[in-house]
Amino acid sequence: MKKTRLEKIKKVLSQRQPTLTVLLEEVHKPHNLSAILRSCDAVGVLEAHAVAPRGGLPTFNATSGSAEKWVPLNVHRSALETISSFQGQGYQVLATHLSERSTDYRTPDYTLPTVILLGAEKWGVSSAAAEAADANILIPMLGMVQSLNVSVAAATILFEAQRQRLEKGMYAEPQIVGNALEHLIFEWLYPDLAAIYRERGEGYPGLDEEGMLVKASDLELLGDLAMSDTDSD
Ligand code: SAM
Repeated sequence: MKKTRLEKIKKVLSQRQPTLTVLLEEVHKPHNLSAILRSCDAVGVLEAHAVAPRGGLPTFNATSGSAEKWVPLNVHRSALETISSFQGQGYQVLATHLSERSTDYRTPDYTLPTVILLGAEKWGVSSAAAEAADANILIPMLGMVQSLNVSVAAATILFEAQRQRLEKGMYAEPQIVGNALEHLIFEWLYPDLAAIYRERGEGYPGLDEEGMLVKASDLELLGDLAMSDTDSD
């Protein structure tokens, strides 16, 4: 059972794209956030980013299919600071925004480290964030309605990025290796245990090749966790 799960986790992680992500500027409806994270998971985004909507932290609902378990959402306070930090790390930031410099969303090279910036349901991307971005992109609209739902726009652009990256062979070459990979495998197999080790400031324990815990004390801790889950049912 664990072994099959381990194999699935390894396969998914071997296709994750740490250099492709989304930044959601005050997207606040739970079903939109959930649907976007689900598309991120399908495309292979490793982590997503959001600027917290006014009035609270982003929340998810059943639309996510639990994608938030596999695509952590990092919450930031300022869109401009986050954009500038990504640019400093060599990412291009593409704002989904109508402006004089907007181009078709299929124009950019998504095989480069890329952040796709998406805006709030009502207001869209702020003009300051759109100006700070490296490019403004748009999905052509040929109908009567002016804009798409934000989660539909996110999926459309993410799957163009996937198409380009597949064509370049970027899913065939694992981009997460070594310790970083071991770390993620442990967190995905044992999320509750991983949280305890992080809280204690300890490194994660070793696993055998079937993904089972090696040390008796770790197994005991896992047993205690399972018991406390049952107690709270
Ligand atoms: N009135 C808002 C505006 O002018 O931007 C509409 C916001 S729209 C409902 C919410 C978000 O969906 C946008 O900020 C953008 O991220 C995305 N979006 C919607 N339609 C889009 C399109 N045609 N191309 C690219 N992104 C789009």
